[in-house]
Amino acid sequence: MNTKYIFVTGGVTSSLGKGIISASLAKLLVARGYSVTIQKLDPYINIDPGTLNPYEHGECYVTDDGAETDLDLGHYERFTNVKTSQANNITTGRIYQSVIDKERRGDYLGETVQVIPHITDEIKHRIKILGSKGDYDFVITEIGGTVGDIESLPYIEAVRQMRWEKGSNCVVIHLTYIPYLAAAGELKTKPTQHSVKMMLEQGVQPDIIVCRTERPLNESIRHKIALFCNVEPSSVIESIDAKTIYEVPVLMREEKLDIQVLNKTMMPIEGEPDLDKWEEFLFKLKNPKSEVTIGLVGKYVELKDAYKSIIESFIHAGASLQCKVNLKMIHSESINNDTTKDILNGLNGILVAPGFGERGIEGKITAIRFARENKIPFLGICLGMQCAVVEFGRNVLGYQDAHSTEMNPDTSHPVIDIMKDQKTICAKGGTMRLGAYPCKIKEASKAFDVYKKIDISERHRHRYEFNNKYMDAYQNAGMMAVGINPKDNLVEMVELKDHPWFIGVQFHPEYSSTVASPHPLFISFVDAARKNSNI
Ligand code: GLN
Repeated sequence: MNTKYIFVTGGVTSSLGKGIISASLAKLLVARGYSVTIQKLDPYINIDPGTLNPYEHGECYVTDDGAETDLDLGHYERFTNVKTSQANNITTGRIYQSVIDKERRGDYLGETVQVIPHITDEIKHRIKILGSKGDYDFVITEIGGTVGDIESLPYIEAVRQMRWEKGSNCVVIHLTYIPYLAAAGELKTKPTQHSVKMMLEQGVQPDIIVCRTERPLNESIRHKIALFCNVEPSSVIESIDAKTIYEVPVLMREEKLDIQVLNKTMMPIEGEPDLDKWEEFLFKLKNPKSEVTIGLVGKYVELKDAYKSIIESFIHAGASLQCKVNLKMIHSESINNDTTKDILNGLNGILVAPGFGERGIEGKITAIRFARENKIPFLGICLGMQCAVVEFGRNVLGYQDAHSTEMNPDTSHPVIDIMKDQKTICAKGGTMRLGAYPCKIKEASKAFDVYKKIDISERHRHRYEFNNKYMDAYQNAGMMAVGINPKDNLVEMVELKDHPWFIGVQFHPEYSSTVASPHPLFISFVDAARKNSNI
């Protein structure tokens, strides 16, 4: 198969949504029957974002094969329903690490090791790996950062070389911003012209220019951009602000982005992309018949990207039930015995988020107690599940100082403890229990009603686990271990017997919810919240 390589670069400013444009293009090509994968190249020196604070980089997304990756990979999977892997996210750190390892092994046979050609060769190698197996018609590679950044220079140089090597099998899409100047009453193309000039200085002529804008582009603006940026007017694509990111594939179809790419790569164009299911999803999303309010309790709630996959999972689940899910973001540090009622009263469901470390932990535990005692539907994810175990230990079993040893290593009731194979690990990067592991669900359980099967596989990212020494005490008191890893007996799911909907999961269901396949746990949770509302 003659794989086509599509590059997506960004200009003018960051945060224009390269990830959404890449994912939308992929969706359109997949909807035309092509096989597509998307890759993100990140120009920072961390080996992966696993060690980055959410304040720095938003959510860390985890793939089936256990890679800790950029959150854009979540968009890729949610849009295309195609799984990604470690090969889909490469950082400068990883590139340099492999070049330096090769140098130490002596692979360069005495050569001077340089950015060009050694670093650029390594970048090209990582791009071509995805195309080399013949699995994909298209490899879309999103280059992180903005053109002109010092750190993205080697990537743009690699793109220049790839175009030279691959000719029409390679297309460059440049995403820019067209600001509207209120005082002049005009959209302005100059920043785009400058950004394309900067690319030209680096030897790359974009083939397609996607213009992010708050107002529609008229013909004369399109012609102006075409003239100054050396592209055909039909290759100037408007990307107007959308109400939801899920509208973008439809907008890109209207703008014929997919046709532009197919034309330029000389691929056959037959009919239209099949977006029927997608449009049905959009219709349900925009025309809800009911409404619920769910509290999302976490310590990064002020950051819009920290709980990206959870927020998107609620959108998928809500749409499938035609139910609008209002998320009330609740800072766990704001919850204490005095504030609980004010903050949590009236919620139809409570989700306690994943996380690490002590900060805000008591607020999470208090919120869980409120959900348990007031029979409010509750979903605890990873740390959220661990907190549910701690809360039950303290307030039902009477273990006053019950805790996770992550927060209190000296507790007399370590109901959550470090996993055996984690005890000797000191290095932080990529050393958690990561990626997909199997779980067996007990048949007489709510979890089974949710999944409707016994064998499931879900993605993980943690070092601590339920302490099985306490299993009997918990089960006798009504907190049931209903999902277990069959190999090492690790508790994957707990639920309360005496509660309408109270489930804690050690894994992360949010990583595998997609538009085409919303996650059953989120659907069931929203449904329970709906039943708990008076609507
Ligand atoms: N800090 C907990 C652990 O390492 C939970 C991690 C998480 O929520 N992802 O086990």
